[in-house]
Amino acid sequence: MSDQVHDFASNTDTVVIVGGGLAGLFCALKLAPRPVTVISAAPLGQGASTAWAQGGIAAAVAEGDSAEAHAADTIAVGAGLVDEAVALGLAREAGARIHDLLQYGVPFDRDLQGKIAVGREAAHSARRIVHVRGDMAGLAIMSALIEAVRATPSIRVIEGYVAETLLTEDDAVAGLQLRRVGDAGARPVTIASRAVVLATGGIGHLYAVTTNPAEASGLGLAIAARAGAVIADPEFVQFHPTAIMVGRDPAPLATEALRGEGATLINDRGERFMPARHPLAELAPRDIVARGVFSEIAAGHGAFLDATTALGARFAEKFPTVYASCIAAGIDPAKQPIPVAPAAHYHMGGIAVDARGRTSLKGLWAGGEVSSTGAHGANRLASNSLLEAVVYAARIAEDIAGHSIAAPARLPAASADARNSVMPPLAEANLRAMMTSHVGVIRDGERLAEAVRTFAAMERDSGNVALRNMATTALLVAAAAWARRESRGAHYRIDYPAERPELKHRTMTTLTAAREIAASLAERAAVRSPQPMIA
Ligand SMILES: Cc1cc2nc3c(=O)[nH]c(=O)nc-3n(C[C@H](O)[C@H](O)[C@H](O)COP(=O)(O)OP(=O)(O)OC[C@H]3O[C@@H](n4cnc5c(N)ncnc54)[C@H](O)[C@@H]3O)c2cc1C
Repeated sequence: MSDQVHDFASNTDTVVIVGGGLAGLFCALKLAPRPVTVISAAPLGQGASTAWAQGGIAAAVAEGDSAEAHAADTIAVGAGLVDEAVALGLAREAGARIHDLLQYGVPFDRDLQGKIAVGREAAHSARRIVHVRGDMAGLAIMSALIEAVRATPSIRVIEGYVAETLLTEDDAVAGLQLRRVGDAGARPVTIASRAVVLATGGIGHLYAVTTNPAEASGLGLAIAARAGAVIADPEFVQFHPTAIMVGRDPAPLATEALRGEGATLINDRGERFMPARHPLAELAPRDIVARGVFSEIAAGHGAFLDATTALGARFAEKFPTVYASCIAAGIDPAKQPIPVAPAAHYHMGGIAVDARGRTSLKGLWAGGEVSSTGAHGANRLASNSLLEAVVYAARIAEDIAGHSIAAPARLPAASADARNSVMPPLAEANLRAMMTSHVGVIRDGERLAEAVRTFAAMERDSGNVALRNMATTALLVAAAAWARRESRGAHYRIDYPAERPELKHRTMTTLTAAREIAASLAERAAVRSPQPMIA
């Protein structure tokens, strides 16, 4: 056990933030000079989706734009489930948070007059994406925040430990159980805290094909759900239509801007398949393009992004990051179509929080992608996620600052998870494969039911805590997807292909409810195929 963790165990009135991405680090900085401990599974700068964000942050800061227009665009994309007050609140606070980021040293691009430069992205009615050196926003934000955090004496950072259990006493948070990353046999470390902020990011790594880092495996959501927190909208997962399929995990992105430049989607016969699916063809909304690509692959025709005519020799200069990913895999995108597939990209669902970032558990806040504020509804508007992370991180800090947090009298009792078995070979790969095939871009009741039963058995029986937590989140996603018998936003059911007006409401669920769905599905399956009688 490292000394830093040992020390921390006795320091009981500290706020504990789990996650070293934008939400976690920004919250820690906003809380200064109050003592804060940040726990990050990976060293700061690694294992966080924030660092990979290419587009930027949506903020209505340009002349002629308004928070109302930004909120209207957010609501239009969210397929009826966006909480309108939340969307407006986000849009209104964007300018102040961009200002904060500038203060922390983020070098946002400026125009010739020295004003913040704004770019345009799909489904935004105005130019409002604040960016850094073109497509380097995430990296620049992380570098600036890490530097600010390292220079703030009130922030202690513990890297290489994963939070695996949230400890509660009398329905309030009492602490966390951590374990050193990559050492299943290590003894867990128990830390006490009455104020825990979960900022653990998304769930993309639960899928076999994803753009997210391996740390985005839904553990924060799982530990909150296992402690009884209410979970909102877990069925809504956004898939990016064009991840580059060159055998890399996570898969590199072929940015939407390539299609904006005229690149087309073709199958292995060289035929374009999007014009038959939508009048906007390759420029149709993200979920429609993702379904088009998925269907073509499922039909055995493959899917490729062809920029040979639209960009040709200009490819390397215009899209250096994508070009480098392709060349490293032996594909010259100036001359050859790029193999693509949809990839799990962003989780609209998460731990349900109110406007202050409070969850349903006393002493537990959640911010960033692990939370569900109601801002995204059934589909996320591009570049709203970094905005949500930064706005809610600030609100959480303000809420905690107004609290006096009593130090727990003693360390909370360790959970029953203290013993941990090694991850069974292939178990994680099997879970991820099932999420992609059964809970992915195109869903149906039968496969969802099979996934629910499988994940419920895994989360009940697994002796490996990490696998059990992954299965917990997978179960929540699959059970809510099974229960939503309609198609809406990013959730598409081939057996219920239409939106149903009576289902125009957010999902609020718990792990208990998901387990009940699993139990009833297991019962139904047993009735359909009874055990043979033994004479
Ligand atoms: C390729 C890519 C491009 C994107 N582009 C954009 C964009 O242009 N604009 C936009 O708005 N959004 C974009 N997004 C989405 C956006 O980046 C994320 O939603 C956002 O960065 C999430 O921030 P976060 O702080 O919540 O989580 P993250 O930045 O993912 O940080 C999570 C942190 O939690 C840690 N962690 C996880 N689990 C545990 C645990 N159990 N114990 C301890 N630590 C843990 C991780 O190591 C990490 O430090 C993109 C995402 C990807 C993957």
